[in-house]
Amino acid sequence: MKQDIDWGSLGFGYIKTDYRYVSKFKDGKWDDGVITEDANITLSECACVFQYSQSCFEGLKAYRTKDDRIVCFRPDMNAKRMADTAERLVMPPFPEDRFVEAVKQVVKANADFVPPYGTGATLYLRPFMMGTNPVIGVKPADEFEFRIFTTPVGPYFKGGAKPITIKVSDYDRAAPHGTGNIKAGLNYAMSLYPITVAHEEGFAENMYLDAATRTKVEETGGANFIFITKDGTLVTPKSDSILPSITRRSICYVAEHILGMKVEHREVLFSEVADFAECGLCGTAAVISPVGRIFDHGKEINFPAGMDDMGPVTRKLYETLTGIQKCEIEAPEGWIVEI
Ligand SMILES: *Cc1c(COP(=O)(O)O)cnc(C)c1O
Repeated sequence: MKQDIDWGSLGFGYIKTDYRYVSKFKDGKWDDGVITEDANITLSECACVFQYSQSCFEGLKAYRTKDDRIVCFRPDMNAKRMADTAERLVMPPFPEDRFVEAVKQVVKANADFVPPYGTGATLYLRPFMMGTNPVIGVKPADEFEFRIFTTPVGPYFKGGAKPITIKVSDYDRAAPHGTGNIKAGLNYAMSLYPITVAHEEGFAENMYLDAATRTKVEETGGANFIFITKDGTLVTPKSDSILPSITRRSICYVAEHILGMKVEHREVLFSEVADFAECGLCGTAAVISPVGRIFDHGKEINFPAGMDDMGPVTRKLYETLTGIQKCEIEAPEGWIVEI
């Protein structure tokens, strides 16, 4: 392990590690792919990624276990989602089995940067893909690059999982014609303005409602919602324009099959949100961030769980899923991939 990194004080930032994975697509096929030390990319000024934003990405983590093994959580799900995203962006999907192989190779090469067990820090992996050849008439590229870099990141919660306050956004997360359900830089580019506004107003995140009617809950800029009803049912919004979070799908499985909870995946009206007992945001970075309060143009919704800590059901879900990820609790078949 790198001795010169203070694992406990790491934040969520980019730290260059020794190796990254690169594969190129040309003449209709992907090359064999290599591990390289070169962190820079040199492209034509007219590359499709610069002109028409033809690019997408994924995010996952590698963890060190108590007995000092290194594992990844469900990388096959990221492989599948990136293939789906690529298809929507007219990019050639990177073969899913090769994606998982590349994840293993790049983590193994950077094993020194996988933080020690117990620090709460992890190695974050960023797979991404872009159109690389010059394109000026509006059309997809025909040459592409798939890469994975890694960066050690600190524990998401320093000093306890404090609930956050969010606001109902005046902007749309996704266009009505639907580009919200892909993991791509273009969606994030469009969320930069609303998140800057929200932060300036003192809110941690935006709650986006459906673009067509602004009556249904969608997601935040980078995380799906989970809600807990007063009688302990887990409710998650169903929509074709939100990103299918792997964390959310894993939480629903854990709730139903391990904790024996009732789970509902359905449309959630904003008008019913005030009736829920607990609210959380889920994604790879935080696993679950509790939400204590939602502002809606002068009105506020305060969840009974309060602003001091996670609600009891959210905590149970959080502890069970993070226990599975760190191999402290037995995982469902295929969830943990040994590096
Ligand atoms: C990545 C992402 C999520 C969370 O997905 P996970 O697979 O759980 O990390 C949710 N919403 C958006 C828009 C995202 O980009």
